[in-house]
Amino acid sequence: MEIQKKTSLKNYNTFGVAATTPLFTEAKSSIILQETLKSPLFENALILGGGSNMLFLDDFSRPVIKVSIPGVRVIQENESTAIVSVGAGVIWHDLVMWCVANNLGGIENLSLIPGLVGAAPIQNIGAYGVELKDVFHNAIAIGKKKGDSRIFDIDDCAFEYRNSVFKNELKDDYVITTVRLSLTKKNHQLKLEYGAMQEILDEMQISTPKIDDVARAVIRIRRSKLPDPEKIGNAGSFFKNPILPSSTIKKLQDVYPSMPTYELDSNFSKVPAGWLIEQAGFKGKRNGLVGMHEKQALVLVNYGGATGLELWEHAQHIMKDVHSKFGIELEPEVNLIH
Ligand SMILES: Cc1cc2nc3c(=O)[nH]c(=O)nc-3n(C[C@H](O)[C@H](O)[C@H](O)COP(=O)(O)OP(=O)(O)OC[C@H]3O[C@@H](n4cnc5c(N)ncnc54)[C@H](O)[C@@H]3O)c2cc1C
Repeated sequence: MEIQKKTSLKNYNTFGVAATTPLFTEAKSSIILQETLKSPLFENALILGGGSNMLFLDDFSRPVIKVSIPGVRVIQENESTAIVSVGAGVIWHDLVMWCVANNLGGIENLSLIPGLVGAAPIQNIGAYGVELKDVFHNAIAIGKKKGDSRIFDIDDCAFEYRNSVFKNELKDDYVITTVRLSLTKKNHQLKLEYGAMQEILDEMQISTPKIDDVARAVIRIRRSKLPDPEKIGNAGSFFKNPILPSSTIKKLQDVYPSMPTYELDSNFSKVPAGWLIEQAGFKGKRNGLVGMHEKQALVLVNYGGATGLELWEHAQHIMKDVHSKFGIELEPEVNLIH
């Protein structure tokens, strides 16, 4: 086990926040991870993937274990489906590209989501009408305290919109080492209804899209509206889209007839948090070193050199403002790390 002392995490989080940790190590296999978790030095360690869904509020006293377990392989297949087993340290977008190249369908709409495979179940990543839970087979994880190995089936994970058991009852309890996905080998079920997908496919002059066309369309849309963390620090959507009862939506629409909503069922609808933030006047507005992105009001950005606390203070300011204007509580999607 290679250990680094007093390490800056600036290059390990997409916000580019310069927090430090007293101890840092990388686990390149499940066995190394198990050993590291047993070591008293790494008690209560923060588990780090690609750092694309975290905001470090300050330097912290906890050690950090970066999960870098490699490997992608088909472990089971029949005529129509394949189970793919993936190491937690594989880059999510590399996995998507591998699946597309091998004609395995199901995650093409999740192209270009930053981060590593091991973090995908934590918030049940989703985009363009698809969520991880739609293709999830199971995951293998190691208990942080007892070092036990456990298989999580879909029913154990309590997946919901940007949520799972790993953010609630089992928060910080398990480290995911392997994720297994169930993907289609033929008759792929393409999801083309969401966002500007159909429009982009028309623009690309594709009338009968295949999975690689869908991936290309998603990449094009994402590149056109989301800031690249390599150029400008951010963690994607900072807040979740609030889910509200239909009665509340109706009252709000009486006052704001142009408010967009997405019906989830007959009782609940989702309101785009980006629309609320834009209406509150924060889109593209800079406050010192931080602000909300000019093309996507939901993305909190670090223009360079901001601290975690400065970013969080701005987020809280927006939460207060949206609450006083609409009576809606915004909830961060990004994990706040103390
Ligand atoms: C530009 C941009 C766009 C984005 N777009 C989307 C999007 O469309 N949809 C979406 O859902 N998300 C999106 N995100 C958020 C982010 O990419 C995902 O949440 C991603 O899954 C985070 O992966 P990560 O490896 O970076 O996780 P990290 O940020 O490293 O960790 C996130 C959380 O998971 C925990 N964790 C990490 N790895 C493990 C593991 N192996 N076992 C147990 N716990 C672990 C961490 O402790 C932390 O609590 C976006 C982010 C950016 C920067």
